[in-house]
Amino acid sequence: ETATEVELIGKHEVLPVYKPRDKFSHKGQFGHSLIIGGSYGKIGAVTLAGRGALAAGAGLVSVYVPKCGYMPLQSSFPEAMVITDADEEKITNISFEMKPTVIGFGVGVGTDAKTIKAFEDFLKKNKTPLVIDADGINILTKKKTLLKLLPEQTILTPHPKELERLVGKWTDDFDKLEKVKAISKKHNLIIVIKGANTITVSQDKLYVNSTGNPGLATAGSGDVLTGVITGLISQGYNPLDASVFGVYLHGKSADIAVEDFGYQSLIASHVIDYLGEAYKDLF
Ligand code: AMP
Ligand code: MG
Repeated sequence: ETATEVELIGKHEVLPVYKPRDKFSHKGQFGHSLIIGGSYGKIGAVTLAGRGALAAGAGLVSVYVPKCGYMPLQSSFPEAMVITDADEEKITNISFEMKPTVIGFGVGVGTDAKTIKAFEDFLKKNKTPLVIDADGINILTKKKTLLKLLPEQTILTPHPKELERLVGKWTDDFDKLEKVKAISKKHNLIIVIKGANTITVSQDKLYVNSTGNPGLATAGSGDVLTGVITGLISQGYNPLDASVFGVYLHGKSADIAVEDFGYQSLIASHVIDYLGEAYKDLF
């Protein structure tokens, strides 16, 4: 067990991190987010993450999906550029010409052996900052040697089940945090433990978020968070600031949206639509 520093994150803590936009801004300054994910029947997860990145402020968003994702993405997300894998239903090879600022990997991607191999081959040559969520985390669990290939300060955003698969069963919350701190230190990762009070773990430091509500207990809300954090890194926030601020903004957006929609009816798309209100609430 090691000394732990804990910080509660509210508006006062994120304001100094916030990067205002000046009058002469152009989209080139806000980076290019690439979301890699999706499989047959789970293309929506990529749409949510991509739209989350754009609404968080990314200058450009591209998505890399299996062929079956081409039509739905081009129709539902006109702002995005769509690149497709050779396979119809899943990702089997990750190759693209562009130079993204940051890559969000894993939403809806599945854990097919071919997808795991594609991710491994990609990691061997990749140097771009990474945010990994959902099945991306499940792939790391299935093939733990991949953890060694991750760039420094890669962000993982597990929900409780994904975290349990990754670090094993814990006895209590203290044990859970020790397990997460250990893996964060061993592989130089930032781990966002999602839940009612999301905790971002970086080595021995814990950042406890104060925003968010049970309206977020709904399909796709985590995919939106992946996009928001990716979109912040895209704009030049460092991985830790992007995680802590992203979790705060995502929760604040849900707190404002729930006033209009209620806990039961809040859906992940609302969290994207209200991100602007969350930004405005900073002032
Ligand atoms: P996922 O399970 O991947 O869709 O992620 C769910 C998202 O909703 C995460 O950002 C969680 O922190 C958030 N969330 C889920 N349940 C709650 C809750 N009861 N209160 C606050 N946030 C929650
Ligand atoms: Mg999820």
